[in-house]
Amino acid sequence: MAETIFGRIIAGEIPADKILETEDLIAIRDINPQAPTHVLIIPKKPLKALSSTGEEDTLLLGKLLASTRKLAEQLGLIADGYRVVINNGESAGQSVPHLHIHLLGGRDFRWPPG
Ligand code: AMP
Repeated sequence: MAETIFGRIIAGEIPADKILETEDLIAIRDINPQAPTHVLIIPKKPLKALSSTGEEDTLLLGKLLASTRKLAEQLGLIADGYRVVINNGESAGQSVPHLHIHLLGGRDFRWPPG
């Protein structure tokens, strides 16, 4: 699979504002934040998208969501709420073909999303 910008960040080849690292994932501040708090939770395994995952990734997917919840707590997003987004595929707005979860908070959100 071709290396993406996230693969290069995970490899330490380019810098990022990293706020969490475990053996399975990293969390970084989005370079172009869409809310006062905008964090990306990224598995180290180079999965292209949510739809690229299989049964063998079930535990990893759980860890990604659990880390998202913990980060929301640590970043003070519980009281006012927060949004969790996965863009899957180009028409859904996915621009980096390496699975990632967006954690957004610090403002009001609308539904449906654009
Ligand atoms: P998506 O459009 O769902 O694929 O989200 C990709 C996200 O990655 C966008 O919100 C970008 O702003 C963000 N992004 C791209 N390059 C970087 C980078 N070098 N460091 C942090 N975030 C990035």
